[in-house]
Amino acid sequence: MFWRKRPSAPLEPSAPSPRGGAPSDELDEALEGAAGILRARARHAFCVGHEDAASIATTLERWASHVLVRSPPPGASREEAADPAARDWRGLVEYVSGQARREQEWVHGSVRDMREAIFALVDTLGRSSGAHGRHDALLRRRLTTLNGAVESGSTDALKREALAVAAAVTAVIEEQRLLAERQAKELEERLHVLTEQLEQTRREGETDPLTKVANRRIFDVSLARSLAVASAVRRPLTLLMVDVDHFKRINDQHGHPAGDKVLCAVADGLARAFPRRSDLVARYGGEEFAIVLADTGDEDAASLAARCLGAVRALRIDVGLRVLAVTASAGVAVARPGESASDLVARADRALYEAKARGRDRFAHAADPEESRAA
Ligand code: GH3
Ligand code: MG
Ligand code: MG
Repeated sequence: MFWRKRPSAPLEPSAPSPRGGAPSDELDEALEGAAGILRARARHAFCVGHEDAASIATTLERWASHVLVRSPPPGASREEAADPAARDWRGLVEYVSGQARREQEWVHGSVRDMREAIFALVDTLGRSSGAHGRHDALLRRRLTTLNGAVESGSTDALKREALAVAAAVTAVIEEQRLLAERQAKELEERLHVLTEQLEQTRREGETDPLTKVANRRIFDVSLARSLAVASAVRRPLTLLMVDVDHFKRINDQHGHPAGDKVLCAVADGLARAFPRRSDLVARYGGEEFAIVLADTGDEDAASLAARCLGAVRALRIDVGLRVLAVTASAGVAVARPGESASDLVARADRALYEAKARGRDRFAHAADPEESRAA
């Protein structure tokens, strides 16, 4: 150690020790001043790298005592400590300058680490956002300025720019939040449109494109299902097969488009005549319609068939040059226990032809299958 090997001039003052010899006010003041500086640094010591603040403060305190009363300096061996002859000024200077260098390196290192951390954060933010919004560009500009502040070493500039970067980061996060909100809303709207389209496609798959009532496929499915339910709960079910009278003449006399208009009007009239949710009006084919009436038995079938034909008779259909009136005929079949859909349709169809044969604009009841068999 220097304090032991080169303890005297030029670093050791030639005047006697303030504690051990003749008083020297100036020397006293100098020693107390030096010790005061060391103690002030001890009070405000801070952790530098691996050495904590308390250990640095202890070392500085020991140097202060060494300067004042020649107590052993930090790191002195037992023999060295036993020799209080001189103060180790060189050792002190080396320690203080070494400590200042370590503090400087630590501060520079911390600033560098902070800058790298900020750059890493910004880089991650930039890549995760994928956005090139206004605030993103602003943040990048701010970072360049922050970099300049780091290089300049001005802590004021560094603090100012770090705060500005924090504000820019907040703005980017807010921009991303708004973007995510907007995207979620757009997604929701697209989903809504798709759901609507899907629903429309489903409806189109179920309705007859000309008349907009249920198509033949839905009629087949619904009749089978309704028959099964009626049989399970022992409730009646009635089927009406309805056919427009002399429809061919309408086509022949007024043209196919007029015929189409008549079909649409008849479908609409039938749908209005049977508005119950449990009733189904369907286009069976051509100018023939089928009506499934749930929970309807022999006692109501006739009046409902009459209602059906009355609704058609009441129509006045504007086909351009003329307003047409039409009639229809119907076959009425009340389902018998265990009867299949095809048998029921066949019975109603036969009744329809009977109504036609009897002169049209009327309905006929289907023969009871039991009675037919008995006859
Ligand atoms: P009936 O009283 O015996 O039922 O006589 P009708 O003329 O109504 O019956 P027919 O079976 O002789 O003719 C039915 C006509 O319906 C023949 C066909 O061209 C026409 N038709 C079938 N589907 C459509 C359609 O979608 N539009 C139009 N305009 N005509 C159709
Ligand atoms: Mg017809
Ligand atoms: Mg027909």
